[in-house]
Amino acid sequence: MLNPAAIQLSQLKKQLTKRTVKELAESSHVQAGLEDMIGRFYESLIQACETGTVNWVDPILDTWLSAMPRDLSAESTLLPMVSTIKRTLWRVCEFDDEEQAFNTIQAVEAVFEHSLMYINKLETSSMLSQSERNFNEFKATMLELDKSKASFVAVAAHELKTPLTLVQGYSNMLTNELLEVESKTKYEPYLRGINNGTARLKEILDAMLDVTLIDNGLLELSYQPVWLSQLIEGMLAELEEQLETRELDIVYEPFLDPKEFFYADPERLQQIIRNVVLNAIKYTPDGGKVTINGRKLPGFIDIAVEDTGIGIALDKQQTIFEKFIQTGDVARHSSGKVKFKGGGPGLGLVIAKGLIEAHEGTIWCQSDGYDEETCPGSVFHIMVPFRETPPDELSAQIFGDSTGPK
Ligand code: ADP
Repeated sequence: MLNPAAIQLSQLKKQLTKRTVKELAESSHVQAGLEDMIGRFYESLIQACETGTVNWVDPILDTWLSAMPRDLSAESTLLPMVSTIKRTLWRVCEFDDEEQAFNTIQAVEAVFEHSLMYINKLETSSMLSQSERNFNEFKATMLELDKSKASFVAVAAHELKTPLTLVQGYSNMLTNELLEVESKTKYEPYLRGINNGTARLKEILDAMLDVTLIDNGLLELSYQPVWLSQLIEGMLAELEEQLETRELDIVYEPFLDPKEFFYADPERLQQIIRNVVLNAIKYTPDGGKVTINGRKLPGFIDIAVEDTGIGIALDKQQTIFEKFIQTGDVARHSSGKVKFKGGGPGLGLVIAKGLIEAHEGTIWCQSDGYDEETCPGSVFHIMVPFRETPPDELSAQIFGDSTGPK
């Protein structure tokens, strides 16, 4: 052995091991177990000083690290133990002269500095992979929960629809029978109430089912030729009766040639536009205006639904497309579909977004902000791919497209 630090440490090895073990543990039983371990560490430290290779101690540190518990608590670190070894070493060492002190301190400190950094690096990466494992486990649990929640909602909505259909059927029969006896019975308003209520309940259940279909990627579109004006005019005609209660100007400005058609799922596209138009109606006070217009862009059509209503705050313009988000007061929920600020379950835009994305289109809104006094209004843009040919095999077969699926 040539290195003076290595020579000095070899002479002190037994004494160092004993003192360190005592510092680390009080019980003699534990001390006996530690002696061999600490002895081997000093052996490696001596070799590291002799060869000038600081990572000579790495295999020992690896063994210690692998024996540590795999949790993320502050106790599961080797750093205090290595610091204790270092502290004990400097207590035991005595130097004959400055040169010996300088040589030993320089050689030994380099090894300890490396050891502490090495432990830190390995413990950090082990902590990171432990956190990643924990995160993945948590994510899997959440996904599982989300799945069971979705299937619960789907089953519940489906089960509720059966008795609801019965109530709807019997109340329709009752209405018809009573009206046959007397054209205007005093029970008519009650029956109308039941019919409206059940119709609204059915809409909510359908919305819940649509959301679960969208969430689980189970939505199937039935692509057919769509003549946009027909689709929008049909939808407005359906709303006419309900709109009698509101003083609103609803204007449709056709922007496609009436003969022009494209491929989309007409029912779903109508549902998207209906949801957006119903919101425009709901959030615009009487005396206001709702305009449906748009433009043809390369490969897309942009259907714009503009209103002169209360507007939407800038920070809400993204979140309103997420589940159960209402920017207004929840206490204002009402069953009125077109009533001013009539609120709903907060699913209309989520469904619109899911349905338009299933068409590979997008939806977004623009508004200068929310203000019930000045009514800055909002514009919703529904971007629908302008498909001139059927996009899938089935519709290509049905509608006989010569170019085949795209
Ligand atoms: P809801 O059932 O609450 O109408 P939606 O998903 O249809 O749910 O809409 C979400 C929220 O977005 C609404 O509660 C409303 O606050 C806001 N919103 C949607 N459309 C408009 C609009 N045209 N003007 C103002 N606010 C709107």
